[in-house]
Amino acid sequence: MSDSCLFCKIVSGEIQGTIVFRDDQATAFRDINPVGPTHILIVPNRHVASVNVLESDDEQLMGHLFKVAGQLANSEGIDQTGYRLITNTGPDAGQTIFHIHVHLIGGQPMKHPMG
Ligand code: AMP
Ligand code: ZN
Repeated sequence: MSDSCLFCKIVSGEIQGTIVFRDDQATAFRDINPVGPTHILIVPNRHVASVNVLESDDEQLMGHLFKVAGQLANSEGIDQTGYRLITNTGPDAGQTIFHIHVHLIGGQPMKHPMG
């Protein structure tokens, strides 16, 4: 847990989020500023700042985030229509929260093939 991290505070319950999934490794909650009908953020419960600092021990955890994303796509009813999973890293990608997260976005056709 990082004291100054917004997503750590949502994981711990210190700040309220619209939580849609939680297990011992990951938490998922709705993005406060959705860009599509479904926009969920899947985060590890443990603080990891970005892809840049992933370690070998984190490989299972990152796979788990994708597994949870797929389950949520199914429960949101967008697994067949399609969805996009995005992990922004660093300034050029527009990363604003430095607690690694996977955006699950779907529910309408994407306006751009990659964004
Ligand atoms: P990124 O730009 O990839 O770092 O994404 C950060 C995301 O966090 C943005 O899509 C924000 O809308 C979202 N966000 C910021 N604050 C909150 C919050 N309190 N609850 C849920 N989502 C948030
Ligand atoms: Zn954090």
